[in-house]
Amino acid sequence: MPLSVRTTETLAEAAALLATERAARFLAGGTLLMRAVNEGDVSFSLLVRTRDPNFVRMRTAGGRIELGAGVTMARILAARELAFLHAPARAIGGPAVRSMATVGGNLFAEHPYGDFAAALLALDARVQLATGFGPREIPLEEFLRGRDRHPRALVSAVVFERPSDPAAFRFHKMTRTRPKGAAVLSIAAHLPLSGGRITGARVAYGAMGKTPIRARAVERALEGRPLSPEGIAPAVAVAAEGTDPPTDSLASAWYRRRVIGVVLRRLLLGEG
Ligand SMILES: Cc1cc2nc3c(=O)[nH]c(=O)nc-3n(C[C@H](O)[C@H](O)[C@H](O)COP(=O)(O)OP(=O)(O)OC[C@H]3O[C@@H](n4cnc5c(N)ncnc54)[C@H](O)[C@@H]3O)c2cc1C
Repeated sequence: MPLSVRTTETLAEAAALLATERAARFLAGGTLLMRAVNEGDVSFSLLVRTRDPNFVRMRTAGGRIELGAGVTMARILAARELAFLHAPARAIGGPAVRSMATVGGNLFAEHPYGDFAAALLALDARVQLATGFGPREIPLEEFLRGRDRHPRALVSAVVFERPSDPAAFRFHKMTRTRPKGAAVLSIAAHLPLSGGRITGARVAYGAMGKTPIRARAVERALEGRPLSPEGIAPAVAVAAEGTDPPTDSLASAWYRRRVIGVVLRRLLLGEG
C-alpha cells in the first residue's frame, strides 16, 4: 500500500488531520512507527508530522517545566537543568534511539516500553492535547488509562512541577541486558521529606501493567514514614498490589510480582 507523508505548519492542523483521516498516524521520532512500516503494517497509509516550533520547545526555567512532545531523550540529556530526568532519559535504548525517541512517543509505547512515561507519572505530569477544538490538558494517569480509546489524539506537550529537592526524585530500571535493554520493570519515585518523614510520595511503575501505573498502595503506606528499613517495610509488603504485569520473553508476570518489592526496597533505601 502506498504511504504518504503530510507535514503541517501547526499542531492544530496536524490534530485536525488525525481526527478526520482514519488511516493517519502521527510521526514523531519514528523509532516505533517506522519499525511498524518496515515490518509491513498496513493499518495506516498517511503519516502526519509537524514543523510547529511549540512541538519541540522546552521551558525549563523556574518551578514549572514544559516539554514539547517532540523533545528527544538526547535533548533532555543535554539539558543540565533537567539532571533529575537524566536517569530515565538514559534508560531509553542506545544513543541512536535516544537521538530520535521523543517524550510524546514514549506515552504511546507499548509494554515493555514506557520508562520515561513512568518517570513523568511520578512527577504527576499533565498532558496537553492538541485537538480540532483547541488545546486540552489532562493528568497523565488519566491519559494512560484511556490511551487505547483515543489513538488519534495528538499530544503537544507534558507539564509538571520541578521537584523542590532533586534528590527526592529517584528512578531505577531493571533489565536483563546492560547498558541497554527493555525493562523487566522500572520504578520512579518522588519522595519529599518533611521533618524526616515522607509527605506526598508518588511512586510509578513501568512494565507492571498494560501501561505505566501509579503504585497507590505503596504511596499510602509510605505516608508519614521515615526512609529507614523499618519505615519502608509496610510499603515493600504491598509493592505488588494493584499491578497486573504481562508475561513476555523478558520475565513472567509471577517473576515481576516477586521482584518488584526487592527493587522498590533498594530504590527507597538509595541502594539502587
Ligand atoms: C531498539 C529500540 C530500543 C528501545 N528501547 C526503549 C526503552 O528502553 N525504553 C522505552 O521506553 N522505549 C524504548 N524504545 C521505544 C521507543 O524508542 C520510545 O518509547 C520512544 O520514546 C518512542 O518515541 P518516538 O518519537 O520514536 O515514537 P514514534 O515511533 O514516532 O511513535 C510511536 C507511536 O506513538 C504515536 N505518537 C508519537 N508521538 C505522538 C504525539 N505527540 N501525539 C500522538 N501520538 C504520538 C505514533 O503515532 C505511534 O503510534 C525502543 C525502541 C527501539 C527501536
